[in-house]
Formats: sequence, C-alpha cells, structure tokens
Amino acid sequence: MQKVIIIKYAELFLKGKNKGYFEQAFFVNIERALKGFKHTLRSPSGRYIVADFEEAEEEGILNALKKVFGAHTIAAGYETSSDLEDIFEAAKLLAPESGTFKVVSHRGDKKYPLNSIEISREIGGKILEAFPCLTVDVHSPQHVIRVDIRENGAALVSGKEEAGAGGMPVGTGGKGLLLISGGIDSPVAGYMMAKRGMKVDCLHFHSYPYTNEQAKEKVVDLAKILSGYTLGTKLNVVSVTHIQEKIHENCAPELMITLLRRFMYRIAERYAKKIGAQCLITGESLGQVASQGMTSSNAVVKDLPVLRPLVGFDKNEIIERSVKIGAYETSILPFEDCCTVFLPDFPAIRPKLSAIEKEEEKLNVEELIEEALSTLEVISL
Ligand code: ATP
Ligand code: MG
Repeated sequence: MQKVIIIKYAELFLKGKNKGYFEQAFFVNIERALKGFKHTLRSPSGRYIVADFEEAEEEGILNALKKVFGAHTIAAGYETSSDLEDIFEAAKLLAPESGTFKVVSHRGDKKYPLNSIEISREIGGKILEAFPCLTVDVHSPQHVIRVDIRENGAALVSGKEEAGAGGMPVGTGGKGLLLISGGIDSPVAGYMMAKRGMKVDCLHFHSYPYTNEQAKEKVVDLAKILSGYTLGTKLNVVSVTHIQEKIHENCAPELMITLLRRFMYRIAERYAKKIGAQCLITGESLGQVASQGMTSSNAVVKDLPVLRPLVGFDKNEIIERSVKIGAYETSILPFEDCCTVFLPDFPAIRPKLSAIEKEEEKLNVEELIEEALSTLEVISL
C-alpha cells in the first residue's frame, strides 16, 4: 500500500484525437508545479498519480496542484492491490471517527469479480464493523470513501475529492502578451486566459523615476502570483517616461491618457510579434473608466486581436476573483504604476480620432516607440 495523490482531469476528455497532446501538456504542467518537491508522477489510464513524496510536504503538494489548470479533482489516498482486504486496510486509514459516510466505487476493470455496488457494500460493511460510531447515509453523507478499481490490478482508495482549478492545461491555447498594471484587473485577466490554456507573458509600462521602486516591486509580485498559475510567466518592463514627457510638452493635456494608451498598445503589439504571442490581453472592462469606452485608444493595434476577458464583468466580480487567486492584497497597495504627475484634471471622455491624430502629428511616434523598446528589461521571477 502506497500513499498517493490522485488527480482527475477536467475537459481534456472532450478533445478526441488531440487527447494525447492535452494529456501530455497536463503531465508536464503537473511536473512543473511540483518542481522542488520530492515525488514521482505517473498517469496510468486517465488518472494522474503523485507518489513517493514526503509526508510533511503533502499539504504543500496539494496546494501546488490546486493551481494547475486542467485538473477536475484532487484527492489524497492510497494505491493498493485490488484485493478486497487491501482495499479495506486503506479505507480504514481514511475512515472518519464518527458521523455518516458512504463508499462510492468505480470499476475501471470490468473483469473484476464484484460490480461497483457490490464493492461499496463489501467495504462499507467492513468499515461499519470496525467503526461502531459510524453510520451509513447514502444520500447526504458527511464523509465519502472512494474505491477505484483500475485496469492494472491496482485500486485507488481516497477520501474527500477537492475541486481542481478546472480549465485547460496552460500551453495548449497559444500564447498571449498581458498588459499588466499594478491594478486589480489585469492580473485577473491574465489568470482567465491562462485558465483557458493560454501561455501568458507580461508587459508592464513604468514611468521611473516619477514612479518608485515599490511600484515596480508590486508588479513583480503580481506577476509572480500569476506565474503560480501559468507555470512560468516572463515579466517584461518598458519605460514610457520619455513618451509621457513628450506628450506633456507638446500635446493637449486632456488627451494625455488616450495618447499614452495608444503608445502602450503600439509598443505591446510590436513586442508581442517579436516574442511570438498571438494576441494582447488587457484588464479592460466596458465603461469602467473614461479611457475604457469604445474609443480609439487601442484602434492602433492592427494585426493582433486584443482579448479583454473581463469585458462583461462588474468590478465586484473582478475583485472576488482577485481575492480568490490571491492577488487582491498586493493589487490594492497604494503605489502608482504610471506617472500621475502628468495626468490632466479633466481627461477627454470621447475624444475624436481626428483630434487624437492631430496631436500625434506633433510627436515622432516611430522614434518614441523604438526608444521605449530599447529600455526593455526582462525581469526573472
Ligand atoms: P487595472 O486594474 O488592470 O490597472 P484599471 O481598471 O486601472 O485596470 P486602466 O488603468 O484603464 O484600468 O487600464 C486598463 C488596462 O490597460 C489594464 O487592465 C492593463 O491591461 C493596461 N494597462 C494600464 N496601465 C498599464 C501599465 N502601466 N502597464 C501595462 N499595462 C497597463
Ligand atoms: Mg490601473
């Protein structure tokens, strides 16, 4: 009998002929999540089994696994032979002291002499005998013991199944470049795309020295939190200080934000193409602030789609997710990401494209983009 953690996957089974590809990606991602923990990983027919880990690290391993997209459920338990006595020995270790329980069985090996109802009855009966304080409740038991007879003569016996992260394995859904600010929304946007299997790299714009080191640290921390789910996000940072200064010197103040946004998008598109990302991702949600209306602020992105996974979300829904993924406490730290010194008192609400373009004519757009890109720094997380 061996202590194991059993992972069942979520949507992968839907993927017909590509199933092998998704299973392999899921396997690799589990390995990545468990880097640093002593363990072995196997995936015999539709189950992923982590074994040979240190008892003291079980909790840490379970927590790491809960961040791996593609997992439907995760449960700690035992692998035994499919002999009923062995199964019972494992079930005894998982049985609660008191309360109600039921045994749920599944028979992958159809040649096994008992069917699933008979297995549950046998094991349930033995548990009742061994633990007189327990009673069976098949409808709403407080505890469940699962018996899963596998095709290879082994059985998996587990207790409570916890929900996995769901979604698809990261890496199976292309690659996107997330425009990450120090705010609440963009890390959640990155999480949402990673959940659908997208590999996510980050790009952040700062206005150092107008913004401080703490503002940068905050974004590093947010990217690290996101990286826990994406299993390896790169954080790229670019300075837009000079661009902001130039806009401030030359252009109508009420268009500052729109003009800066357009620069950010142009720079992001150029960099995304360079690193082979197929789309940009932002944390915009419709109508949240003036610059996020259906204006021309990102009409400058010509060749790549801009994904806005939060577009239909209310702020409180975004906050809920931010809390859930563990980013909220960091996001609400007070450090500004882009220079507020240059911000106008009254930004234009629905600026006309012609007015924006007229202001841009006062700038050497191409040179400013290239110059900003030359400040690019890749931060290892
Ligand atoms: P967030 O909570 O993500 O900061 P927000 O509600 O503050 O969003 P805006 O400031 O309008 O909204 O930003 C909209 C989106 O533009 C952000 O979600 C992010 O994707 C991108 N963005 C804003 N500022 C930056 C920045 N300094 N660097 C990179 N991307 C940015
Ligand atoms: Mg913001």
